[in-house]
Amino acid sequence: MCPHSLSLHTLEHHDAFIERHIGPSVEEQQAMLEATGFQTLEDMIQRTVPASIRCDIPAELDTPRTETETLERLKAIMSQNIVKRSMIGMGFTDAITPNVILRNVLENPGWYTAYTPYQPEISQGRLEGLLTFQQMIMDLTGLELANASLLDEATAAAEAMTLCKRMSKAKHANVFIVDEQLHPQNISVIQTRAEPLGIEVVIGDVASLMAQHNYFGVVVQYPDTLGEIKDYQALIQQAHEQKALFCAAADIMALVLLKSPGDLGADVVFGSSQRFGVPMGYGGPSAAYFATRDAFKRSVPGRIIGVSVDSRGKPALRMAMQTREQHIRREKAMSNICTAQALLANMAAFYAVYHGPEGLKIIASRIHRLTNILAAGLSSKGVTIVNTHWFDTLTLELGFARDAAYERAAELGINLRKIGDTRLGITCDERTTREEIHTLWKALLGETHHLDMEALDYQLIENGTPALPASLLRENEILTHPVFNTHHSETEMLRYLKKLENKDISLAHSMIALGSCTMKLNATAEMIPVTWPELANMHPFAPREQALGYQQMIDELDQMLRAITGFDAICMQPNSGAQGEYAGLMAIRNYLRAKGEGHRNVCLIPTSAHGTNPASAAMVDMQVVLIDCDAQGNVDVEDLRNKALAHKDDLAALMITYPSTHGVFEEEIKEICAIVHECGGQVYMDGANLNAQVCISKPAEIGADVSHMNLHKTFCIPHGGGGPGMGPIGVKAHLVPHLANHPVVQVNNDNQNNTAVSAAPWGSASILSISWVYISLMGGIGLRQATEVAILSANYIANRLNEHFPVLYTGRNGRVAHECIIDLRPLKERTGITEEDVAKRLMDFGFHAPTMSFPVPGTLMIEPTESESKAELDRFIEAMVQIRQEIAAVETGEMTAEQSPLRHAPHTQADLMDANWDRVYSREQGAFPAEWLKDAKVWPSVNRIDNVYGDRNLFCACVPVEDYR
Ligand SMILES: *Cc1c(COP(=O)(O)O)cnc(C)c1O
Repeated sequence: MCPHSLSLHTLEHHDAFIERHIGPSVEEQQAMLEATGFQTLEDMIQRTVPASIRCDIPAELDTPRTETETLERLKAIMSQNIVKRSMIGMGFTDAITPNVILRNVLENPGWYTAYTPYQPEISQGRLEGLLTFQQMIMDLTGLELANASLLDEATAAAEAMTLCKRMSKAKHANVFIVDEQLHPQNISVIQTRAEPLGIEVVIGDVASLMAQHNYFGVVVQYPDTLGEIKDYQALIQQAHEQKALFCAAADIMALVLLKSPGDLGADVVFGSSQRFGVPMGYGGPSAAYFATRDAFKRSVPGRIIGVSVDSRGKPALRMAMQTREQHIRREKAMSNICTAQALLANMAAFYAVYHGPEGLKIIASRIHRLTNILAAGLSSKGVTIVNTHWFDTLTLELGFARDAAYERAAELGINLRKIGDTRLGITCDERTTREEIHTLWKALLGETHHLDMEALDYQLIENGTPALPASLLRENEILTHPVFNTHHSETEMLRYLKKLENKDISLAHSMIALGSCTMKLNATAEMIPVTWPELANMHPFAPREQALGYQQMIDELDQMLRAITGFDAICMQPNSGAQGEYAGLMAIRNYLRAKGEGHRNVCLIPTSAHGTNPASAAMVDMQVVLIDCDAQGNVDVEDLRNKALAHKDDLAALMITYPSTHGVFEEEIKEICAIVHECGGQVYMDGANLNAQVCISKPAEIGADVSHMNLHKTFCIPHGGGGPGMGPIGVKAHLVPHLANHPVVQVNNDNQNNTAVSAAPWGSASILSISWVYISLMGGIGLRQATEVAILSANYIANRLNEHFPVLYTGRNGRVAHECIIDLRPLKERTGITEEDVAKRLMDFGFHAPTMSFPVPGTLMIEPTESESKAELDRFIEAMVQIRQEIAAVETGEMTAEQSPLRHAPHTQADLMDANWDRVYSREQGAFPAEWLKDAKVWPSVNRIDNVYGDRNLFCACVPVEDYR
């Protein structure tokens, strides 16, 4: 027992967190230290981390707190939020999360702790959920192809613009036409993204702008931000005559009743899926969707799930066409999306699965009917409704009476939207009731309106409902696939969700040692507050005075992150690391321009960098110049110096990951930063590896000007099977005036005119609470210990595996940082056994493979994190050693690579049941290679998947299995 936790134990509840978060006990840590040749953790730090960058535990960080105490404190903070009914609209709408989905998906570690499905054989459950999401989006949008989610609607709008730019045949056009009735945050993010790409954005009435400009694309909101529904068919035709493309941001619930934009001829349809059962969360997380024509499939942003076959010819899912993505194409990637919103896309898909097409029609029709009753009552009393058509949103013209009406509604517990000086917006949603309509009448008409809801409803039914334009009523069937027509009882739904969950490996099964991704414990105490109503049911544009709890929590997290990183300010807006990179490089770009050095556009990036780095540089129009790495995996300082000097007149930035993606603390990091500064550039530190630095060194003190923090890596937000995440950036003071702001809610008084990088002012605000809880529970002492044990665990694994698989790079004294790369290339050379064979064979042992072939092809990068016990580390090591012995059998000629269990991995129950077992090894060796598997075995639900087949025969929709065969 370490001394500080002893003292905690004296009078506190027995729920001190540190030793729950940190896997190895003090005794185990001692054994690991001995095995690695260190005396103490302090000794280890001194021998692995360069003295020049070490720091003490930041004094601003609190002492650790127990789980009880922390949750009580957060409850007290968050109960300052006043949770009113928000009928503000603008792309965020209250929803009812079906409880079966709330508890069994959103609150279930089997779903939320899984990793992005790069290893598809043990990810078929969430891949099926995402394929269902794609099918749902295709049905609702009327387009042929949908992706598996984007970060939010506003970034999807920007992606729509760049897809138009790539695919439009109007090659000389440079104008993107944006309808003035888009949600303001969509316009703002489009503006942010367009500027560095040199795209001219014109905003106004689409029809007249189309007559004036030579444009390549158009975007409208359907229904628009005021609730109006327009028939764009003629304009779409006109755009196509100009060889331009037409995009629509569409409300997913309205699409249940409305003719799809695809049927009207639109080329891209995107939007938010939040109102399909996902809480608003003060801005997120929720999933955006993106659909387009099949012809543009190679240009689609984000991930696409596709159907392929496994080695037995059985249909099997995996991520398709990854060659479009930044891992492969780097600065030429179609988009820069790594972490997306997989968990929330799955929730939206399950909402549709649970309700089915009939249930969705009932929900959408009910919302519309209540809106109609509201409107009929208001018109009958002489209130001017601005819209001629609507689905769920009315814009009222109230003149001088507006503010009083707004206040009365607020007093009665309802937030409405102020539009201009005299208008009021009201958006009905799934939670709207008859009583609420009465309340709205009361707010807008006074106590004595004498309206009779039943009579109004009856009249409306008698006369039909012309609020939806007759030409735009949906005529075709949606969601006809069996998956949407089967699981409507809770029993069926529960079993369906459990069946999918059981196909996947998550942290609920075994360690997921994904180098660079820091798959540590996502503690239950950290997750519990996310679904508290005070967090879940807040609209991001609710009045600030109703969100004091959120403000305090976010401010405190801001302070904690500043203490940890040493930066002067934090921007909480980016929804992923890649978005943080973009936001940070934009701040650099705008800073240089403000200084009159806008010509600086060269971005130095080491060859070992993550694909998002060059992709981000390209998004801000920087020129990527690659820096070599030396034989030890360090940035080649001479090469860096030469290139920085050669570009000293046009150097904008260096992007560098620290500790390096090669898993070492480079000694020269300070010198590297100094060289870049001397040559007039700024240092962007990719903070994905911050887990090796927390409370040991600070990015800002090392020399970084800006850095993102992947809160879903270092600070415990779960990976969700491929999102959500948060990538806030820390900056030094000189960059503060150039940070993102927001058009609806000012987040920073120092830069009020700046545009946004995300739809919501504080990104996915609700999950910021996860990192707040983690840091509060750990305190400075616990965080330091976590970093130490993360480094210890990596060195322990490196040390134990080194004799079996050479560790590729080490730093000072032959040590690694918090992860290590093992080199499989020599074995591959000798035996033909690949890193993929090893990755798939690990599944037979119940493990998810480490990161494959990044940053070095033919290697595995192992990051155990501090949360895994010594027993789990040993189990993983044992699996790897046994795999090494199986490779040896190929080396000695006992069997060929093709015959070996490595090549046949993973083994399924179908393999074992096969009457013609003709392998050179036993069934037992195939499926039960270790003793522990007899106690608990995760069965991959498919055999090895053929990626090439899937990409050649691209198929990205749900089809009954029989049809596919
Ligand atoms: C994870 C990672 C990123 C990207 O972060 P996302 O949150 O997935 O967008 C960038 N760089 C490195 C080194 C990473 O490991």
